[in-house]
Amino acid sequence: MLICGGSFAGLAVGRELAGSGADVLLIDRYEIGERQTSACGIPTGWLEALDLQRSLQQTFGELVIHTPYTTVRYRLPWTFSTFDYRTLCEALADQGAFTFETAKVDGRTGRIVHTDRGDIRAGVIVDALGWRRVLGAGSNVQPPDALLSRGLEVHPHGSGSDMEIWIDRSYVPAGYGWSFPAADELRIGVGSFDPRYHVRESTNRLATDLDAENVRYQGNWIPHALRNATEDGLFFAGDSAGHCLPLTAEGIRTALYFGLAVGRELSDVIGGRRSVPEALSSYSRFSASHARAFEWMLRCQRLVPRVAPPLLAGALHAMESKRFLDWAFGHYLEIAHPRFVAAGQRPAPVAVPVPG
Ligand SMILES: Cc1cc2nc3c(=O)[nH]c(=O)nc-3n(C[C@H](O)[C@H](O)[C@H](O)COP(=O)(O)OP(=O)(O)OC[C@H]3O[C@@H](n4cnc5c(N)ncnc54)[C@H](O)[C@@H]3O)c2cc1C
Repeated sequence: MLICGGSFAGLAVGRELAGSGADVLLIDRYEIGERQTSACGIPTGWLEALDLQRSLQQTFGELVIHTPYTTVRYRLPWTFSTFDYRTLCEALADQGAFTFETAKVDGRTGRIVHTDRGDIRAGVIVDALGWRRVLGAGSNVQPPDALLSRGLEVHPHGSGSDMEIWIDRSYVPAGYGWSFPAADELRIGVGSFDPRYHVRESTNRLATDLDAENVRYQGNWIPHALRNATEDGLFFAGDSAGHCLPLTAEGIRTALYFGLAVGRELSDVIGGRRSVPEALSSYSRFSASHARAFEWMLRCQRLVPRVAPPLLAGALHAMESKRFLDWAFGHYLEIAHPRFVAAGQRPAPVAVPVPG
């Protein structure tokens, strides 16, 4: 088996194959944990469920949202944490059982994956290579036409006690800015739902407004629409399958979640409990069963930038009640809940509750 991509999704697949007896090769162009791919914020429950607490840097019980007209402070029904990317990846890799090699994947012909270190033939191939979906069939959709957002952040030294969000058109017409403290570092960035809108100047300005330095840039495209989770006999997990949630651009826990799902399907294949075609079809159904939740989030992503800022301020205050926050954030977590880590061997095609 060949897993391409050694970040959240790929490492989650590898974790689930531990003990299965499978012969697994995992490849990435960088060493595991070498290149941070995000602000590394995640519901704390995911770190606990996967026993990755040693990567935890800072925990937040509240979300602070700034708009030009108001600031709200939401008490969350669950906590959110920032983590150290390298530590998390190494800890997750330790839980897996695979051989790791660095190689840059260039493409694929049938069951042969072409890399800068030669061709690799494999019976089962997983693309966990991120938004480019390098191993997809046919020509790839590229930005700005693809359903992608763009995000860029800086990582200055500094500290803070709040996880903060800015919904402010002076930074980005459609999107948001953020500051996630992580121990002795701040992760300050701006994401635009419109891929044509460049966010470098906005990111610099937000950091400057927060008296932080514009140093250590990290940015990427962020998918905001589901894509087929299987294609041409391959499994796709994480950003390669568009598993990042629209509106919030939270894609780590979903990459882990769908990566675990692929790993469980493949364990069943190794154990002789299902064939590869059965595993492909089961995983494809599982991913598609989340479509309503993703579409609902996408509708919110399209709606929020259209709401007049004074109205948005009123709406954010209207949502401050504990009852509403517990309900809304409860449903939001449910889309990829940490209880999935301990839940059985195989993804049941669950009906994902959609906030109404
Ligand atoms: C600025 C920014 C901040 C973000 N902050 C958050 C956040 O705080 N919380 C959150 O939940 N989500 C966040 N996201 C989204 C999140 O980063 C992604 O959804 C998540 O990383 C997807 O995980 P993945 O494993 O699918 O892909 P990636 O994490 O993108 O991993 C892909 C892996 O494939 C490797 N790779 C890629 N191409 C090749 C190739 N050709 N050959 C070999 N290897 C290759 C890469 O080196 C990498 O290791 C953020 C995104 C951005 C851009």
